[in-house]
Amino acid sequence: MRISQHMQGFPFGFGGYKHIKGFSLHVFVVIGLSGAKRFHTPKVAIVGAGFVGSTFAYSLMIRGLVSEIVLIDVDKKRAEGEAMDLSHGLSFVQPANIWAGDYSDCEGADIVVISAGIAQKIGQSRLELAQANFEIFKQIVSNVTRYNDECIFLVTTNPVDIMTYATLKLSGFPANRVIGSGTILDTSRFRYVLGEYLKVDPRNVHAYIIGEHGDSEVPVWSLANVAGTKLRDYCPFCGEKYDHTYLDSLFKKVRDAAYEIIERKGRTYYAIGLGLTRIVEAIIRDENALLTVSSLLQDYYEVSDICLSVPSIVNREGIATVIKLQLDENEIRGFQESARIMKEVAKSLKL
Ligand code: NAD
Repeated sequence: MRISQHMQGFPFGFGGYKHIKGFSLHVFVVIGLSGAKRFHTPKVAIVGAGFVGSTFAYSLMIRGLVSEIVLIDVDKKRAEGEAMDLSHGLSFVQPANIWAGDYSDCEGADIVVISAGIAQKIGQSRLELAQANFEIFKQIVSNVTRYNDECIFLVTTNPVDIMTYATLKLSGFPANRVIGSGTILDTSRFRYVLGEYLKVDPRNVHAYIIGEHGDSEVPVWSLANVAGTKLRDYCPFCGEKYDHTYLDSLFKKVRDAAYEIIERKGRTYYAIGLGLTRIVEAIIRDENALLTVSSLLQDYYEVSDICLSVPSIVNREGIATVIKLQLDENEIRGFQESARIMKEVAKSLKL
């Protein structure tokens, strides 16, 4: 895989220097330059430089994870404007080359993020975007793979599970290299609202949303815990009631968050921008991080051949492993229903 191969070895050929010490510096520099070719600098291409794509680029540049960020958009002027605006902040962060490019600039990208397409309008469900965004993806995926068939695709366009599955089919890539942002955002929202309720840092709340990133998503209450303590025991510990009705209302806030935000400001983009950055970080740093992302599932509680989110180990290979959670009966039913809905949509697109 490209990231590991390129990271091997020193950039400036120190071994060569030992053999020639006593000779001129000129010789050392020539050897040094040829060695420099082996030094890999991480590169991310973003197709779709709208609210989500450019906010993700902003978050990525602040994190200082990659050396190159290329923005590609059918609206070239928009991509150029975003690249200029981002680049003007480079004196405040770590160095990076940020520019508006075209598909040929996907060459050499470790990760190609797709955030292009139509976004939800007020009251519209994500699934209503499927047909229009699938048509857009037919062009995008073939344009990217013409220049790069070794990258990891990271999809965030909605309906993200369907678009992830479409990217897998259209690219012919192995399943580990096609990832959807899936419920990374919903899980973050879930941890946030539970953290508020339980008065604990959301990073210390271990709770997942699985299934569709959308109306049929499933909260995994049976495994939710703080410090290894199930919520039934943790709630009284922090002075709160363990009340199913109230906890369910917290989940509904999570599930319906996009509708609530879109009604107020038209779009959501900050939290997903951070979520995408977290996934890219896990890949670039080869972290084996456990993230709820969407990928092709096989034989997961009788669900096969569809992309959905479950906690998965993410590293430089993309999806290294999907974790088989010990779900309760309700959760299994909810998850299977989510898969049934996704399959229907995929079938309607003839995927
Ligand atoms: P936006 O309208 O601001 O940006 C979309 C961009 O895609 C535009 O710049 C447009 O020019 C570009 N585009 C359209 N067709 C293209 C093509 N064929 N090739 C290249 N670029 C093309 O929308 P947004 O708010 O950035 O949302 C983008 C997508 O992300 C939507 O589908 C939205 O629903 C989704 N989204 C997903 C999540 C998530 O958690 N997965 C969260 C928020 C938004």
